Amino acid sequence: MDSTIETAPRPEFLSGDVQHLLIDGERRPSASGETFETVDPATEEVLARVASGGAADVDAAVASARRALDDPAWAGMSPHERTRVLIRIGELIERHAEELAMIDTLDNGTPITMTRGMMARASEVFRYYSGWPTRLYGETNASVPSQVNLTVREPVGVCAGIIPWNAPVLMAAWKIAPALACGNTCVLKPAEQSPLSALRLGELILEAGVPAGVVNVVTGFGETAGAALAAHSDVDKVAFTGSTTVGKSILAASTGNLKRVTLELGGKSPNIVFPDADLEAAAAASATAFCRLSGQVCAAGTRIFVHESIHDEFVELLAAQATQWMPGNPLDPETKMGPLVSSEQYERVTSYLALGREEGAGLATGGSAVDGRGYFVEPTLFTGVDNRMRIAQEEIFGPVGAVIRFSTEEEAVARANDTRYGLAAAVWTNDLSRTHRMARAIKAGTVWVNQIGPQDPALPFGGYKESGIGREHGSASIDMYTETKTVMMQLR
Ligand code: ADP
Ligand code: MG
Repeated sequence: MDSTIETAPRPEFLSGDVQHLLIDGERRPSASGETFETVDPATEEVLARVASGGAADVDAAVASARRALDDPAWAGMSPHERTRVLIRIGELIERHAEELAMIDTLDNGTPITMTRGMMARASEVFRYYSGWPTRLYGETNASVPSQVNLTVREPVGVCAGIIPWNAPVLMAAWKIAPALACGNTCVLKPAEQSPLSALRLGELILEAGVPAGVVNVVTGFGETAGAALAAHSDVDKVAFTGSTTVGKSILAASTGNLKRVTLELGGKSPNIVFPDADLEAAAAASATAFCRLSGQVCAAGTRIFVHESIHDEFVELLAAQATQWMPGNPLDPETKMGPLVSSEQYERVTSYLALGREEGAGLATGGSAVDGRGYFVEPTLFTGVDNRMRIAQEEIFGPVGAVIRFSTEEEAVARANDTRYGLAAAVWTNDLSRTHRMARAIKAGTVWVNQIGPQDPALPFGGYKESGIGREHGSASIDMYTETKTVMMQLR
């Protein structure tokens, strides 16, 4: 990138020396005093210094969450009041949207128009879950005349949330909102690449009237803070969003106390275009699907299956759309795509750009990094890809699409499902029967039809196969944040 990216107006929140942890309602340094730097990926400059939480801090945060769980200030709060508190959090996110959006844009390089949109969505997540506290129903079973049998929903307990850097506030909302709606307490571990906004969100949650200790934020590295949290014997549940490799280690770490685990992991989502689709619309949305957030999206539609009869025409449309995603200064409201989040991501993505060429794929557009400061790469569309190539099987997490040609519906299904992942899929067709056949045949947690990418907190989201365990959102998430207790009474 050129060096004209100006120094951004820094939110007041970033003015302190070190960004401390949030434990028991207070900002405090890590027990070891250690800190780490978080970097603005558009300029490669240090943005802030942040407390590096370790096992001792995780212990303190978990102890605080444990105390808060049974404290009448939280345990005794009526469901109606919990509803009001969740609504207030949503309102505070909205009121502070500009500040939170700026923090995330500086910290992870997401274009400012997108981070603004994400704050609206995060606010919506809290509003959605605000409806649940008064709707945590149990069941009765009248089958035995001499008994009254019923079930009640109780909080699971102390819930850990370990989140990635691609959508920091939104991911925090996905973990915290359902936990609070069901009466749990939380310890949140944001990603080391983008730790700042979670701390600010934690402060807003306190301001909304959530008692101290109910939501704690421990910043730090995955191998230290994250691993300590995943293995902690006094954590009842862990909800993780991130890579499949780390997800497996979190599941392994959970066995000590058999904590409940939900995992939302990687993907290599198929996006299947049939000849009868609206090709212009499909091309625009398909480019968005692999370029949005620089392709750093678990559900990105990265394998684009195109029917042979429209192949050349569609590739041309898609490449033209992709070139509109050339990266730019994330603070510029005109910018659609920013940099990758870190030097590690940059190395990883550029190595895949080289790999695609080595594997013999063609290039319809892109294929290179952008010279200069910042971790910028071009939107890239590989063509002539075979589904067994590594660029079609491995999650790249960059703005890279792979076009795979197909001739029959059966073949499209077989190859779309030929992956260890199963997070999402999209199908473009106006044939009603084909739509339903495809929706049934694709092994993925979400199947989009004539669109790709939307999510709704009212609808379950999660993965088949190695894309995860469990579902977030909708009533499915309530199952994940409650224990069911059966009460059996004998009538005398
Ligand atoms: P990504 O590839 O998207 O960066 P990661 O899976 O590496 O995703 O990281 C997601 C989150 O998991 C981050 O908060 C990171 O710090 C955390 N993490 C990484 N390694 C571990 C680990 N071994 N145990 C627990 N958390 C971890
Ligand atoms: Mg950063």
